[in-house]
Amino acid sequence: MNNGEKRIIPLTEGLYTLPASPDEKPHLIGSRCINCNELYFPKKEKGLCIHCQQKTLEEVELSRQGKIASFTIVLQPPAGGFYHGPVPYAYGYVDLPEGVRVETQFTGNFNNLEIDGDVEMVIEKLYENAEGDEFVTYKFKPLKEQK
Ligand SMILES: [Zn+2]
Repeated sequence: MNNGEKRIIPLTEGLYTLPASPDEKPHLIGSRCINCNELYFPKKEKGLCIHCQQKTLEEVELSRQGKIASFTIVLQPPAGGFYHGPVPYAYGYVDLPEGVRVETQFTGNFNNLEIDGDVEMVIEKLYENAEGDEFVTYKFKPLKEQK
């Protein structure tokens, strides 16, 4: 046990910034090529732009809002036992205004998912382990239901 204090653990390191306070918003972290302007998500660790073959990538925070390019609602847990999140779940792709396409899970009311629909990035609990630690990941949520 850890004195009843829950730990928040990103499922994958380096994909996004975690807010340090409630006023801060999370951002996905990508790479931008300062030579040819190509954008990547997730960021490329080795800094090599596969578009222009230069080692000219820098880390950038990506927009928090985008539009749904495609989505699927999955009613059964995937085989293999690696998935610990809720079922049904929704995933697909979101296009950010910078021109990068992000693979993501969706959250909120799945009835509000629509192609071209506006969504915003959030950090959400995916599951909890036996010690009560929360494993979190980024998801996108329809803006519709926040009005
Ligand atoms: Zn480049």
